[in-house]
Amino acid sequence: MEINKKTWPLSTTFSLRSRINTDTDYQRPAVWTTAQKQMLMDSILRGYDVPKFYWHKVSKKPEKYDVVDGQQRLRAIWEFMDNQYALAKDADSVDGVEIAHKFCKDLEPDQRIQLEQYALDVAVIEDSSDEEVREMFLRLQNGTSLKAQEKRHARVGRMRDFICELANHSFFNSVHFDNSRFTYEHIAAQMCLLTLRGEICNVKDRDLNAMYDDKRDFDPNSSTANQIKKVLKYLSAMFPAKTPELKRYNVISLYILISELMENYVIKDREKELADWFIDFELRRAQEDLKPAEEQNSAFVTYHEKTAHSTDGADSLKYRNNFLMDDLFQHVKELCPKDPKRLFDEVQRRVIYRKYNGICQKCGKKCEWDNYQADHIKPWSNGGKTIIENGQLLCSECNQKKGAATC
Ligand SMILES: [Zn+2]
Repeated sequence: MEINKKTWPLSTTFSLRSRINTDTDYQRPAVWTTAQKQMLMDSILRGYDVPKFYWHKVSKKPEKYDVVDGQQRLRAIWEFMDNQYALAKDADSVDGVEIAHKFCKDLEPDQRIQLEQYALDVAVIEDSSDEEVREMFLRLQNGTSLKAQEKRHARVGRMRDFICELANHSFFNSVHFDNSRFTYEHIAAQMCLLTLRGEICNVKDRDLNAMYDDKRDFDPNSSTANQIKKVLKYLSAMFPAKTPELKRYNVISLYILISELMENYVIKDREKELADWFIDFELRRAQEDLKPAEEQNSAFVTYHEKTAHSTDGADSLKYRNNFLMDDLFQHVKELCPKDPKRLFDEVQRRVIYRKYNGICQKCGKKCEWDNYQADHIKPWSNGGKTIIENGQLLCSECNQKKGAATC
């Protein structure tokens, strides 16, 4: 890694802006307010020092850069030079010259020249891999306000990539909180850890960090990955549009609940019913909160406390899940358990083969004794039982086609 320190006049960065990428994924998405942008420009006009920028040179001819640190500041500068916002209404004058509420084009000529010539300190990183740059970025940010998920986002690895992909799932379009500081990735990482463990566990930052380390080689097509996607797909079908009841703290509970139901109960085609129950639950809960303390249902009060403190701990998650499950089974009737027995055993398979004389019930082909499938007539995932009466014989090809169609 080689780092060259240079100074760049603002005017040069502005004219070369098409070659300077401020939209790399090293950093948080743009969250600066106009007031923050105005403050930066105000500082520059006063000749104050602006902290160093880090750019990664990604191409030599023509020279192109990825901004590693300073994306928001650079964007704020360019937007001002492009007259997209004015200085603050209450800005004090600079050396006796008014600047309040002025756009760049309205500044006094001398001030404009000063602004254009203002030199940014830029450390240009050359000859280094993305991984090295990310590592450096993490270190630069240590001890600053960079939150845990932002640090995880800046890592390298297949687990990191998979979680980025999950955070873009359409389900997150329906939630009622924004994605500032990688909130969706944070929740996606928690979902991932819960499914990997196969039980309710702690999903605090240190647990998530350990997962990113341990599962660097995570296979995005593994059965765990597919299971997570299946639950998200179901949640997305439950809530096809923005839903105010989907809050930061309850999405993870809902994920646990649906995972458990999917594993043990027949919930196909019941998305709407389950969504209605959840919305009703949240409304009852909100009404409970409005009552005077002495009239409140104590179970709801405890539930409320568990959603307010240490929410990423296994104890809180378990309590909330039990509470939700209880409520669900009181209000949603006839949830039918799946047959705990998933596969036909050897005796059942043989009886089914003899019953159908080895003939595939789809294509009519005669199957060899050692090459046929005992298939659930009513699919197991729809509550079909693993009993001879619900079994039929299929050849391997027809069975595969049926499997693909019901997925
Ligand atoms: Zn067949």
